[in-house]
Amino acid sequence: CADAPLAVGPAPRRNTRQVSVQWGNNVVNVGGSAPIVVQSMTNTDTADAIATAIQVKELAQAGSEVVRITVNTPDAAREVPAIRQQLDRMGIDTPLVGDFHYNGHKLLTQFPECAQALSKYRINPGNMGAGNRREDNFAQMIEVACRYNKPVRIGVNWGSLDSTLMARMMDENSRRREPWSAQAVMREALVVSAISNAQRAEALGLPGNAIVLSCKVSHVQDLIAVYQNLASRCDYPLHLGLTEAGMGSKGIVASTAALAVLLQQGIGDTIRISLTPEPGGDRTREVVVAQEILQTMGLRAFTPMVVACPGCGRTSSTVFQHLADSIQAYLREQMPVWRTRYPGVERMNVAVMGCVVNGPGESQHADIGISLPGTGEVPSAPVYVDGRRTVTLKGDHIAQEFQAIVEHYVEQ
Ligand code: SF4
Repeated sequence: CADAPLAVGPAPRRNTRQVSVQWGNNVVNVGGSAPIVVQSMTNTDTADAIATAIQVKELAQAGSEVVRITVNTPDAAREVPAIRQQLDRMGIDTPLVGDFHYNGHKLLTQFPECAQALSKYRINPGNMGAGNRREDNFAQMIEVACRYNKPVRIGVNWGSLDSTLMARMMDENSRRREPWSAQAVMREALVVSAISNAQRAEALGLPGNAIVLSCKVSHVQDLIAVYQNLASRCDYPLHLGLTEAGMGSKGIVASTAALAVLLQQGIGDTIRISLTPEPGGDRTREVVVAQEILQTMGLRAFTPMVVACPGCGRTSSTVFQHLADSIQAYLREQMPVWRTRYPGVERMNVAVMGCVVNGPGESQHADIGISLPGTGEVPSAPVYVDGRRTVTLKGDHIAQEFQAIVEHYVEQ
């Protein structure tokens, strides 16, 4: 027998400054002791204010606590205040972040209403021009952020790394006695770009507690290495995300693999899961995946979790799969109302199991569980509430009756 109980749980969160992203009375804190924030990004044309406002609303209602919109043209910048107004009219106070590349300095200075309607600016230091022009463009954006008291994310990206910095670092590398690999130089350049631009922003007057950093790459091991390094060299809050994660299960698995390692080490203050949607697919999927990563790791709770077995040859039908699916969907649909009416309901666990092998045991560990009859078993489904067997359901209406038991439990 071991001398001490098995240690469980992530390392303490990295100690960072705290950045407030605010719209009206809604203040979303990033870093410090704040919960890890879930965020997402629209894929509508921002110049289409109605489509963008609708998608922001969908993402916000799915649980995105901050939503980023691209601001890439004068038409897009002109519509940002209208998007904000529509959201305000709908009672959606989710802060909007403007994503700027190439012309952000012009758009923010030429469209002050846009600059004010946004709650945060994302600046990519890799695509702001070169030389003195780059320095001037960066300074203009920081000046607007200072004027309107807005935080910024300095978001460095593997695919658009500052070419001048990269050339200088490659040159320095060539003079090393043992030169690093090109990949290693790029990883270092990402970190140097993020930190040096944050320091410059502070020198230009932006408060240190108004800066979030990110260094996104598309390979899992590179992302882990870069963020571990970045975390050890600064105390700015970090926005985590695997960029260009990909479609379907690949995108979900790659993002989860990378983020889980970092989150377990206490690194990361806000996350975005960049999934390529299937054609016509639901954009809110990335919000659900982000929430599920945090909840399955025990870092936050958003909606009751359904534990379901995978099923095997012992299951006589697909009833339990349908039941698990419908209960999960039902719980998620109820959350907008339940969240305010029944505080703590998001921590509830529901088990839906396919047969007697693991059914009773797993059901007893959940707040509510049901063990459906497997092949050759008596056609009845015992229900467990708070670890105790209560009723046994039979017949064709097991799903509806179990849902009613869940609802009754929540109300009580
Ligand atoms: Fe198979 Fe039963 Fe295990 Fe489910 S609980 S996977 S049906 S043995």
